Amino acid sequence: MDLHIPADVSAVVDKLRSTGHRAYVVGGCVRDAIRGVDPADWDVATDAMPEEIQKVFRRSLYTNRFGTVVVRMGHREIEVTTYRVEAAYSDHRRPDAVAFTNSLHEDLSRRDFTMNAMAWSPDHGGTIVDPFGGQRDLEARIVRAVGDPDERFTEDALRMLRAVRFAAVLGFTIEPNTAAAIERNAKLAETLSGERIQQEIVRILRGPVPSVGFRMLSNLGLLAVIAPELEQCRETPQDKVAAENVFEHSLATIDAAAAEMPVGTSPEEDLVLRLAALFHDLGKPDTYDDGHFHQHEFVGEAKVRQILRRWKFDKATVEAVAHLVRHHMFWYQPDWTSSAVRRFIRKVGLERIPVLFALRKADNVGSGARAPRMYALNELWLRVQEEIQRATAFSQGDLVVDGNDVMRELGIGSGPEVGRILHELFERVLDEPELNTPERLLSLAKEIHAQRPD
Ligand code: ATP
Ligand code: MG
Repeated sequence: MDLHIPADVSAVVDKLRSTGHRAYVVGGCVRDAIRGVDPADWDVATDAMPEEIQKVFRRSLYTNRFGTVVVRMGHREIEVTTYRVEAAYSDHRRPDAVAFTNSLHEDLSRRDFTMNAMAWSPDHGGTIVDPFGGQRDLEARIVRAVGDPDERFTEDALRMLRAVRFAAVLGFTIEPNTAAAIERNAKLAETLSGERIQQEIVRILRGPVPSVGFRMLSNLGLLAVIAPELEQCRETPQDKVAAENVFEHSLATIDAAAAEMPVGTSPEEDLVLRLAALFHDLGKPDTYDDGHFHQHEFVGEAKVRQILRRWKFDKATVEAVAHLVRHHMFWYQPDWTSSAVRRFIRKVGLERIPVLFALRKADNVGSGARAPRMYALNELWLRVQEEIQRATAFSQGDLVVDGNDVMRELGIGSGPEVGRILHELFERVLDEPELNTPERLLSLAKEIHAQRPD
């Protein structure tokens, strides 16, 4: 098969071969090249030991104890790894030790799925080594474990999540024996580190139809282990056009969010919105008692924080998702005054409004959107835009005067009185945006100061 292998990558293979070693392009990049997709990264496997690889490539970095050397070639960084087998697993997650081998076949057989266990060499103008039927499975769109699936998942429980991720993102099915082994071994996923779970969850979330992966995780018994809070939502009935329980409603919401990401959304905001869409109703199982899920947004906020912290998400992401979950039940009535709209903007935060509205839209779609609710949402959106045009201050920092101005004007030193005055000024400006000029605010400041409580 004639694969397109970039010149820098084949140069690494050629150089190793010309110095008497064996070398192949291996793993996920071969899979992607066969699929006609540009791989994220290129990997080369060789029988040369790490020290030998470093001798061949002067500009290289030996990065870890697993025998990987990063080689710079052209503008690429190519990972060159000594053939290895993974020795003894005791905790189902990491090899205890790395054992090198001089057999390509052994190296391929410790890889997770048939489509990831192929190698390419420049022999005869390009040859694919495919001992486990990876090309056949790629063609048939099947994720199949290499060798005995029970053994493979016991060796490394992450492979179960990877199986779901590949199936979901590529639109493949998991081969029945492989799927049955996941069901049998799902419990082992409790030993996985949060960081490794996060990586796979994020990739499932970023897929075109995220519900596919999460439904698969649930059906295979993995979700109950890694996110019991979400699995539990299956037991909570939900009287929605689009869903009969909270879990299905959450899936409908995440798909709606993924399908209609607002233009100009950054990758970070996109991820935050997807996480919030998936987890926005986590509080419902605990608040079902009263039949109204009373205050479920606050219970949900606490739960989503726990999950995201467990998965080692960074603080900014945790905060942003928690904020969306807390505020997702916002309501609006057409008789709101302009000042009420501005107070809403202050409460939610100006910069967070577009994502909150996108979440609400997805939530509505995930409920089987009835038109009137969308009208109300659009109307509030228009009124928010109007206020943004009109008003100059949605947070205290937007006032045209600051604490120094107030202190200078009143001849007072710093202290709680300055804070009280600024707070009061901001409240007045929310009611009457026209007050946000230096003259009017400073004269107001004098009045407020004069009326200070003793
Ligand atoms: P992608 O880069 O698209 O996430 P990938 O298959 O390339 O997919 P990597 O994490 O880059 O995934 O790993 C490269 C290769 O290493 C895989 O294709 C597979 O052969 C092997 N591999 C990675 N993780 C595991 C694992 N947990 N168990 C066995 N083999 C693995
Ligand atoms: Mg890769």
